[in-house]
Amino acid sequence: MIKANSLPRLMHRASGRPLSLEEHDQEFGLVDAQTDFLGELRNSGLTGRGGAGFPTYKKVELLSQQRGHGKFVVVNAMEGEPASHKDLALLNANPHLVIDGAEMLAHMIGAKRIAICVSRDNPIVINNVKRALHERTRRSLRGPEIELHTPPWRYVAGEESALVHWLDDNESLPQYRPQRPTILRIGRNAVLVDNAETCANVGLIGRFGASWYRQLGTESSPGSTLVSVTGAVDRAHVIEVALGTPVKAILEVAGADTDPSAILLGGYGGTWLSGDNIRLPFATEYLKEVGASVGAGIIMVLPKRACGIMETYRITKWMANESARQCGPCAFGLPALAEDLQQLVAGGKDRKQSLDRLIHRAAEIDGRGACKHPDGVVRMIRTALQVFDKDLQNHINGAPCVGSRDTKFYATVPRHEREEDLVWE
Ligand code: SF4
Repeated sequence: MIKANSLPRLMHRASGRPLSLEEHDQEFGLVDAQTDFLGELRNSGLTGRGGAGFPTYKKVELLSQQRGHGKFVVVNAMEGEPASHKDLALLNANPHLVIDGAEMLAHMIGAKRIAICVSRDNPIVINNVKRALHERTRRSLRGPEIELHTPPWRYVAGEESALVHWLDDNESLPQYRPQRPTILRIGRNAVLVDNAETCANVGLIGRFGASWYRQLGTESSPGSTLVSVTGAVDRAHVIEVALGTPVKAILEVAGADTDPSAILLGGYGGTWLSGDNIRLPFATEYLKEVGASVGAGIIMVLPKRACGIMETYRITKWMANESARQCGPCAFGLPALAEDLQQLVAGGKDRKQSLDRLIHRAAEIDGRGACKHPDGVVRMIRTALQVFDKDLQNHINGAPCVGSRDTKFYATVPRHEREEDLVWE
């Protein structure tokens, strides 16, 4: 049995290749996916690891109340966020733990089918999941039918309603949801969507229980979590930490710059914080004091030599291209924000007007998309304008941009590097 108060848990015995089913059984112990442990799930305090941080048991409770025999569990391992690598790392290490958790969730809501979704540009992960499913079929483990789906990669393709839309209709378009949580459906069948890391945590709680789970983490944020560290670091890292670990300690383990200009928490639609905030514990109850959250466990490190406004322009331009183009404020508003930022960083004559326009447009776009994509961009820009005030004043005054000399785009990890160059701890 894995010790309750030590790490790693989710990445237990991760060795650069996935554990076989036999090894998985030896390391984690056999489990009966047919047990019902909603009470333990509630007591564990597990929240979704995909970004929204919604209590997992509440979603399960809601879905278990839905009628019908055609319910689905969808395992979301799309990782549309370029700064995130954790779900791929997890599926490359312990795919059976993710599948165990999905089977437990399926049993609790009465679902007969599970869809595991990995974007199609991750061939190594896809092969590992196929092999894991094959091993389970050979052992004829009873349980729901499990299918692997490989939608095309886009930033918004991993948004849960876009993913369900793709499974239902082959279109990765987010659906308008005025209320959360909303029951998503494939045809008439209710769907529970959970992130791959969330499912793996369910796999642990179903085995060892809530008190075991709570022996790591804080009272409000129990357990461990996977953190993707990118930016001013030699290679992208995925590190499993107890929630509440200081951000600085995470950066040290990743070998990242521990005296950064700033960090971007939560990915491209996240929150910029000045570098002195790395003293904060990585847990939402602490991060919310400065307007941030743990989200999907992403820390992007910006070094002092970079310009935060230049980096914000680069991210905004990239995000504008990722709009699903079904809402005007997003389809037209995000490119306009990118253009304002470009004029600001380019140092043209009307840079002050560009800044005023940027602030005005951001207010008009906020909250007006069918999904949260434009809101995330607006949040990222607003926090940049606060955190990078010095860089901003330099641009307004027409001073040469320190970031223009540095051609590295710190936030971006080219897709082809994601599997081969990933380092996990
Ligand atoms: S807000 Fe943007 S990404 Fe979201 S549904 Fe509308 S157009 Fe698509």
